[in-house]
Amino acid sequence: MTKEAKEKREIPKEVIERVEKLRKEIEYHNYRYYVLDSPVISDAEYDALMRELKKLEEMYPELITPDSPTQRVGFKPAEGFKEVAHAEPMLSLDDAMNEEEVIEFDKRIKRFLGLSEEENIEYTVEPKIDGLAVELVYENGSLVVGATRGDGYVGEDITNNLKTIHTIPLRLRKFAEDAPNVPLRIDVRGEVYMTKDEFKRLNEERIHKGELPFANPRNAAAGSLRQLDPAITAKRKLDIFCYGIGRVEGHNFKTQWEILQTFPKWGLKVNPYVKLVKNIKEAISYHHYIERIRETLPYEIDGIVIKVNDLSLWEKLGTKARSPRYALAYKFQPTQVTTQLLDVVFQVGRTGAVTPVAVLKPVHIGGVVVERATLHNEDFIKNLDIKIGDWVLVQRAGEVIPEIVMPIKERRTGQEKEIIFPTQCPICGTKLVKKPGEAIWRCPNKACYAQAVRKLLHFASRNAMNIDGLGEKVARDLVDKGLVQNVADLYYLKWEDFMKLPGFAYKKAKNLHEAIQKSKKTTLARFIYALGIRHVGEAMAQMLAEKFKSLEKLMNASLTDLLSIPGIGYEVAKSIVEFFKNEENRKMIQRMLSAGITFVEEEKKEEKPKILEGLTFVFTGALKSMTRDEAKRKVIELGGKVTDSVSKNVKYVVVGENPGSKYQKALQLGIKIINEDEFLKLIGEG
Ligand SMILES: [Zn+2]
Repeated sequence: MTKEAKEKREIPKEVIERVEKLRKEIEYHNYRYYVLDSPVISDAEYDALMRELKKLEEMYPELITPDSPTQRVGFKPAEGFKEVAHAEPMLSLDDAMNEEEVIEFDKRIKRFLGLSEEENIEYTVEPKIDGLAVELVYENGSLVVGATRGDGYVGEDITNNLKTIHTIPLRLRKFAEDAPNVPLRIDVRGEVYMTKDEFKRLNEERIHKGELPFANPRNAAAGSLRQLDPAITAKRKLDIFCYGIGRVEGHNFKTQWEILQTFPKWGLKVNPYVKLVKNIKEAISYHHYIERIRETLPYEIDGIVIKVNDLSLWEKLGTKARSPRYALAYKFQPTQVTTQLLDVVFQVGRTGAVTPVAVLKPVHIGGVVVERATLHNEDFIKNLDIKIGDWVLVQRAGEVIPEIVMPIKERRTGQEKEIIFPTQCPICGTKLVKKPGEAIWRCPNKACYAQAVRKLLHFASRNAMNIDGLGEKVARDLVDKGLVQNVADLYYLKWEDFMKLPGFAYKKAKNLHEAIQKSKKTTLARFIYALGIRHVGEAMAQMLAEKFKSLEKLMNASLTDLLSIPGIGYEVAKSIVEFFKNEENRKMIQRMLSAGITFVEEEKKEEKPKILEGLTFVFTGALKSMTRDEAKRKVIELGGKVTDSVSKNVKYVVVGENPGSKYQKALQLGIKIINEDEFLKLIGEG
């Protein structure tokens, strides 16, 4: 486009407004991050704002102003540090979030160099360490200056702090025979980082002291390096990986790979995963590989860095405004985001441990929707002063359970509420206990967890809500993972939630979810039975349903109402009244009704032809295809009768495995004896 055409081009008003808004937001977050040292959004969210702004500025370059946040590389030196000008600028890298962007990067390079698309470009690849970029200046082999990147041109002199890191050589030496001589002057670039273990230790210490933890190891490394007192830096275990050069005098590197191969021979630490690849396809597979092993690394990484290997091409390619054309950061999916803490529920585990679980405004982290995260224990909540309604930084790394990292107190509105830790078990109501020196409250009632599982199993059982696929193991896991505390929770789970259960993949999760949805359409009798009211078995539930005809009427029935019904004694009546008087139970029922539980007429049993009318059956021994109760029900459904004693009136004796005395008696009386297969044929299921 010619300059004139550009000037004439109408830029949509929304674009101009959006660009303005983005700049304002980014500036605010820069301020929070660099000046106040307390960011209010995650790095990934910040990056997303920056990327959007960059994209819009690429589309409409006429909108770029010299003071746009995109025109700055890093931060200005902080007060208290001497400034150091970098001999060569320390540029920042462009990001790619997906494969297409990486392929486009490769294509762009080929276009720029006039190569065809079929030709291969060699790249070096390495993990992108989540740390702080520094420059080490060596003169005649001696470390003379160490600096932060700063704004890319001028950094902070942190030489004394860097000298506390034992893996940074104070002197470069020729440690290998085949190493070139140490040059007269070399600017070595590297990333100072903190290991995950050290990061964890440091944060635990901070939380214990009531200080806010560092959001990530990079912030921790930066915070530790930019201490005015090197003694503090020395206490934090920091490390470095060296990856590049600035100005070099006295040696001529030809490739990036040569740099990475030579550094260790001079005593500089290089990441063990650096690799030379033949083309961009190999770089992409390397990305997948590193993403897979990411969790096993002792330090945090957030992607890989891809660099053109041939340094002579670097010059040809040159740099864009603030980033080189020869390198790219291919990022992983972010693992931290901010969201709102809507509520806290308390889950009881197998050992009785009560864990606070955050209910979050659903948020995407690394391609997964996260709605719950652990809050660890009461001390964690107290020390960090987390409140309901807070914006929180949430982290989900790999297979680890999502966790709350910290609250963002700056975003408080005053409407936040205290988190009240229960004194009684949320499942059984027993008073919770805590051992001295422990952070975890426990329910001392041994039967508690088991009861929760049993209630769930009863609810889902065939004669109750009849939920397929909800057996003992699944019930245990549902309670254990805190997905179900009372049965109403079942109806608020999404199919994705079941993927959290051990042994669940897509299909199984979908099936269980579907079975639960299907169970919403039920009969009043089944529902009453499913509630598991003491003394209310299947027959009693059936009778209550017939007498009251509506759940509401039953819920509001008085002791007198119930006692007036023949067959209901005092114990039963009292149990029913107490159950429905309980606020928790009413809430649970209300939640189920809100979730769409509806009552249909009793299944029309008459629909089945009464083929067994007038026939009486006796069962003895175990059946293979069904329980004896099921078999009995089938006989009754088909119009037949079942009895327990063998007499002349009995038409068939159905004999399963290990039959008892009834079998003998049937033989004596000459009653027809059939096996399970014959029985199945008889009822039309054979
Ligand atoms: Zn309990």
